[in-house]
Amino acid sequence: MPVKATIMLSEAVQVQVDLFSERIQHYRAQGLRIFASSSFQSHSIPMLHLVSQVDKSIPVVFLNTGFHFPETLVYRDQIAGQLGLSLLNIKSPVSKYGQRDAEGRFLYATDPDHCCYLNKTLPMEEVLLEYDVWINGVRRDQSSTRSGFSLESPGPHGVLRFHPMLDWNSRMIWEYSQYYELPQHPLEAQGYFSVGCAPCTRRLTDEQDSRGGRWAGMKKTECGLHTELVEKKSI
Ligand code: SF4
Repeated sequence: MPVKATIMLSEAVQVQVDLFSERIQHYRAQGLRIFASSSFQSHSIPMLHLVSQVDKSIPVVFLNTGFHFPETLVYRDQIAGQLGLSLLNIKSPVSKYGQRDAEGRFLYATDPDHCCYLNKTLPMEEVLLEYDVWINGVRRDQSSTRSGFSLESPGPHGVLRFHPMLDWNSRMIWEYSQYYELPQHPLEAQGYFSVGCAPCTRRLTDEQDSRGGRWAGMKKTECGLHTELVEKKSI
């Protein structure tokens, strides 16, 4: 993987790189089964690159809702190929025909919580039953609801959630991506700082709360995969 001679990795980034490597070795030494999940956005790439550097055999789950931007699917394949990832595309067991309300409208328009449940939480259940450690890329600075997350925390079905990107910020992600010359998601240049499903993603004019472009106008900030942590935090 090429590196840019003009960019140096800061101590803050190096600490996080070492932390990731140390935790994976620790889990492996305990014989734990590890997987990662990613929505394949620009800010996902350092974590995916770290997986590829430390242990390419770790499966990387992509929850294919069927509602992603075409650019995301192209980017996913580009990154997975470039980094040699063990990509697992997971889909909902419920057909799109069964994801409509009584009037025939897709649930993302009328009941997005249930749409996220069918397309994200439900298919993830099967995966969680097979593994002991779930690596995912949530960050404190993405939203106020994520600011209180911990590096490790208990997840569903006894899985241990590991959040290696928790203390990364935009500057660190930029620095790491520049250093390793990792490509950006094509929609980022158009103002999409957090890219999810197309019907639920809007352009943002600033990066203050990068997830503010998700489910704009709705009382919804999480897709369901991380909801139990948000609920624990607010108890
Ligand atoms: S983000 Fe929107 S389209 Fe995607 S699963 Fe959730 S509600 Fe459905």
